[in-house]
Amino acid sequence: MKTVDNINFADKKVLIRVDFNVPLNENFEISDDSRITAALPTINKILDDGGSVILMSHLGRPKDGPNPKYSLKHILQHLSKFLNTNVKFADDCVGDIALKLANNLKAGEVLLLENLRFYKEEEKGDLQFAEKLSKLGNYYVNDAFGTAHRAHASTAVIAQFFGEAKCFGYLMAKEIENAEKVMKNPARPFTAIIGGAKAGDKILILDNLMSVADNIIIGGGMSYTFVKAQGGKIGNSLVENDRLELTLQILSNAQKNGVKIHLPQDSVIADKFNNESNIKVAQSNEIPDGWMGLDIGPQAIENYKNIILQSKTILWNGPMGVFEMQNFENGTKQIALTLAEATNRGTFTLIGGGDSSAAIHKFKLEEKVSYVSTGGGALLEYFEGKILPGISAIND
Ligand code: AMP
Repeated sequence: MKTVDNINFADKKVLIRVDFNVPLNENFEISDDSRITAALPTINKILDDGGSVILMSHLGRPKDGPNPKYSLKHILQHLSKFLNTNVKFADDCVGDIALKLANNLKAGEVLLLENLRFYKEEEKGDLQFAEKLSKLGNYYVNDAFGTAHRAHASTAVIAQFFGEAKCFGYLMAKEIENAEKVMKNPARPFTAIIGGAKAGDKILILDNLMSVADNIIIGGGMSYTFVKAQGGKIGNSLVENDRLELTLQILSNAQKNGVKIHLPQDSVIADKFNNESNIKVAQSNEIPDGWMGLDIGPQAIENYKNIILQSKTILWNGPMGVFEMQNFENGTKQIALTLAEATNRGTFTLIGGGDSSAAIHKFKLEEKVSYVSTGGGALLEYFEGKILPGISAIND
């Protein structure tokens, strides 16, 4: 894999695709700057080499062209502070203004371009727009894993204008390395923990895991579609009646492939979908009418803990219950704590996908697992076995 480490950037003008799509509050202040800090090692390496940097990103989902609400100007000060330099700003990501500022950039200087998505050509992957962007630098670095699954102008199409002068940034490289560690050659046993609301969203991942996982642990709302498909009574639990057949197919494929699928034997059930409801524990296939499973139960936790502690590689995507409500967070919390324990014993643990990352942060365990991925959709598509355009554009 060609990364920024393999190159000396002295006197190069380096166009970096970063993911600065940070959350802003009503005063346009950044409420979580982790996407910016994640890109700093790549930027600093290039500046330290004596190169100059042109940063391009999207912010939010502007619909009809330029909109001050989505201007990347909002992050300029914050970024300048982090980089300890006055970052310059181009009000337009292409055209004369951007070109002039990029051309005048000296070694050690940084230019931030206005939101790429002010042009609809960006998401369309327009070739001419990509070519215009490519004129701003003489080297292309992709460090935006969060958009690696999109064939946009700045994430993939642009790469063809740089010949060999392109590579991955540190963040991208780390994400790819960790994902490959799990899917290409995992230390065994390899256990995938898949949870979350809907089985339908996870079917492709489950399918793809059949050829590589030893165990698949299932939790969260998606479990009940499996339980019902096998004839269980699930009361008012979340269910996708149109996927019952599909879940049976998954169970039978797993058996053929020698993959063990584990469903929660018991559940914490509630009579309403809120934290003030009455709660009790029931077998997951004997949930009374009027009650719903909102977390995995104590037996399931014990069983899942044992499997986790016997594994050498673990992928976790999706919570075990409605962890946002205190009464239903325990299953997810116990899994997170056990992952930390397993990591401490030498197991490789990769956490990915929006809600499991949110859970690991909620329980303050992000430093105690091997890696928490920054890419939600991109990581999921990787685990579905898809080729990510942002990766192939650099590799091909
Ligand atoms: P996903 O986006 O598919 O990973 O689903 C995450 C969401 O699933 C979280 O907001 C959880 O609150 C929700 N969830 C997890 N378990 C359940 C459950 N048993 N019933 C309803 N929602 C659930």
